[in-house]
Amino acid sequence: MKKMWLSVLIVMLAVVLAACAGNGQKESNGGSNGGSSNGGSKGSVGLAMPTKSSERWVNDGANMKKEFEALGYSVDLQYAEDVIENQVSQIENMITKGVKVLVIAAIDGESLTDVLQKAADENIAVIAYDRLIRNSEHVSYYATFDNFKVGVLQASYLEDKLGLKDGKGPFNIELFAGSPDDNNAYFFFNGAMSVLQPYIDSGKVVVKSGQTTMEQVATLRWDGATAQARMDNLLSANYTTEDVHAVLSPYDGISIGIISSLKGVGYGTADKPMPIISGQDAELASVKSIVAGEQTSTIFKDTRELAKVAVSMAEAVLEGKEAQINDTETYDNGVKVVPSFLLEPVSVDIENYKEVLIDSGYYKESDLN
Ligand code: BGC
Repeated sequence: MKKMWLSVLIVMLAVVLAACAGNGQKESNGGSNGGSSNGGSKGSVGLAMPTKSSERWVNDGANMKKEFEALGYSVDLQYAEDVIENQVSQIENMITKGVKVLVIAAIDGESLTDVLQKAADENIAVIAYDRLIRNSEHVSYYATFDNFKVGVLQASYLEDKLGLKDGKGPFNIELFAGSPDDNNAYFFFNGAMSVLQPYIDSGKVVVKSGQTTMEQVATLRWDGATAQARMDNLLSANYTTEDVHAVLSPYDGISIGIISSLKGVGYGTADKPMPIISGQDAELASVKSIVAGEQTSTIFKDTRELAKVAVSMAEAVLEGKEAQINDTETYDNGVKVVPSFLLEPVSVDIENYKEVLIDSGYYKESDLN
């Protein structure tokens, strides 16, 4: 009799536990548009990504989820749709649920100090993913690309195509930068200006708007519509009699806004060709735009590789080992220099997109149709 009751109890307990797990899953999926997985034997990992509105972050999240799951972790992947408060509360939830490590691509690199303290209080380590988290000592590692070089590559492309090195010019260029709350935006812009400033000083590059500082050219939240509105203003105020020959754009979504604005005033014809326009992330729409002869270049950052780096950093932290890094100087977050691994960005245009993006399996030829 006793045995029978024991069996009944065990079965009941199993049913209750299964129901709890199911609820946890529902809550997590309902609270965001990410998703979580159960069943990892090594415990769970929290991945906080900024937004699904840009393809790259969707790929970053998916790539990391796959990698962590293959290693036996369950994954709580959340997207905050570029709302800082959402991201903070998503991270708080992950802490409450007892994730073992957090991998975070911040929306605003300066707004996570308190929540990272909460993570530290629970002994949860943090890896900064692609974007530096500032003003916190509780960032174990930073996985990213050589962000200064991204800017150098963007501007070198313009330099090359305009023939500035051969002494050609003067050319009219307008400048755009990324979100002022993203540390990367400064690295991209400074990298680009390291190439362009000498030409601006010598008069071979003319910024007719006169807007050349980060404060003047930044684009909050990397928003394409904001960039489009600024480009509309730049064109109507400065380019009614002369053409703009090149635009420094830090990110594909911004390039798309700039191109819409240019098309709106008649650029993109034989008489009025599109200016040279840079970008970043090799997003599908922009690669198509490059193939169509509108955007000129982009920067490819292989999110598959970045995911691998971040996952191996997280594993190292969990196993109490040192992660592999290749930079211990560049990324001072205001409290400490965060040990980093920098991957190499690659410049892509009509000449090499097949080799870089298709041959590597990042896209299929049919994706571009
Ligand atoms: C990333 C870029 C991206 C931008 C906008 C930056 O932090 O490094 O790859 O284009 O955010 O999402």
